[in-house]
Amino acid sequence: MAKVHYRCSDLGYQCSFEYEGPKPEDILPRIKMHMKYAHQIQELSPEEIEKVKSKFKTVE
Ligand SMILES: [Zn+2]
Repeated sequence: MAKVHYRCSDLGYQCSFEYEGPKPEDILPRIKMHMKYAHQIQELSPEEIEKVKSKFKTVE
């Protein structure tokens, strides 16, 4: 089963957070929460969400 994988360091953060799930919409809420608590980004803008999504990698 393919999974979507996200790594904070791919966005340029000095951060070891990574997360994966079956689909982008499954992992986005968890990433948003991480952004809020770890990076003090209260609300991701649509542009920032696109940036995050552009770093998603599909892994087998
Ligand atoms: Zn992070």
